[in-house]
Amino acid sequence: MSADLFEVALFKLKDAGVRMTPQRHAILAYLLDTMSHPTVDEIYKSLEGKFPNMSVATIYNNLRVFKETGLVRELTYGDASSRFDANIEEHYHAVCVKCNKVEDFYHFPLHELESEAASSTGFKVHSHRLEVYGTCQECQIEP
Ligand code: ZN
Ligand code: MN
Repeated sequence: MSADLFEVALFKLKDAGVRMTPQRHAILAYLLDTMSHPTVDEIYKSLEGKFPNMSVATIYNNLRVFKETGLVRELTYGDASSRFDANIEEHYHAVCVKCNKVEDFYHFPLHELESEAASSTGFKVHSHRLEVYGTCQECQIEP
């Protein structure tokens, strides 16, 4: 994990008046350290050894705080569990249809797409979400 990213995150939380707790610290560090876009259950399983008294609800509450502070993005997938992403750089996702892995990729921001959508629908467009679907490298190897 980049120490800088963590410092910036701590500063944002402090600025928003969010009190730091050991659990909150651990969840944030875990999210900044992983590239895997974990679900709440995955976060829980990774941290329960260190915090046996921490509940899934605590993780939800902390994720909500991180979302409200703009530190974490929630990726929803219909009925499947949400995944959480602490990479707040503008980027896109490739989703594996076999193992559900979500991988980052970078592309120049598609501002043109937003303005085209705005002019053809009359919407005031504030964001967009783009995903590509396929089979990840590991899943291509397996028979
Ligand atoms: Zn896969
Ligand atoms: Mn991502």
